[in-house]
Amino acid sequence: MLKATGIRKSYGNLQILKGVNFEVQKGEIVSIIGPSGAGKSTLLHILGTLDKPDSGSVELKGTVINKLVGDMVGVFRNQNIGFVFQFHHLLPEFSAIENICIPAFIAKVNKKQAETRALELLDLLGLKDRGQHKPNQLSGGEQQRVAIARALINNPSIIFADEPSGNLDSENAAGLHQLFVTLRDNFNQTFVIVTHNEHLARTSDRVVSMKDGLIV
Ligand code: ADP
Ligand code: ADP
Repeated sequence: MLKATGIRKSYGNLQILKGVNFEVQKGEIVSIIGPSGAGKSTLLHILGTLDKPDSGSVELKGTVINKLVGDMVGVFRNQNIGFVFQFHHLLPEFSAIENICIPAFIAKVNKKQAETRALELLDLLGLKDRGQHKPNQLSGGEQQRVAIARALINNPSIIFADEPSGNLDSENAAGLHQLFVTLRDNFNQTFVIVTHNEHLARTSDRVVSMKDGLIV
């Protein structure tokens, strides 16, 4: 599904990634752990087309994504990649359903079709009666599940999650990681998750450890 080879990235004189090789199979849940500053977020951003490596290549489903230019980057990202962040970044003035539909609208899916899919996802994620709620009317765990529904709406090949449970209590954090497993089991969904929580990382198929810009 994903193959990254020889990824290097520096900010100024600071070498952040020093030649990272990384592969993910379809339907695999991979956790990336390691100390703060190891380069985990930087790697995730590069794998997800949010940033470009100085050298090396990232291939997602046969497309060399670091070679995409201009508008193609955003189009490819919106159609193939889902993101979940520590802070959900839901738009406060929009309802849960409206937030979930945003990536579908960007992909020019019609409103009816997008809303039907959003309702299916709400149901699947245990949020059936929360569709009309605004983010501030939802609990932290519910907000994060809405963010996951938004990441899922365009049926992405892969979901990148950066500390998705970092802002949740331990019960909600465990529930969120269990949800990733359920989505993998039912839909063969692929995940790459950066987490500080080694206990939760154990729910993945594989744990990758980073230190000083390398996978160790
Ligand atoms: P981790 O996610 O493992 O904590 P990061 O990838 O966030 O590590 O950061 C690795 C290092 O890169 C840190 O020292 C951070 O300050 C630096 N860094 C990250 N992004 C930038 C940036 N845009 N400009 C300069 N330095 C950055
Ligand atoms: P995390 O610890 O969750 O990885 P960070 O605080 O490292 O988050 O980074 C948050 C954001 O700030 C990221 O988008 C990262 O690229 C950027 N960033 C981190 N360190 C620096 C830096 N030294 N200079 C500029 N941007 C940075």
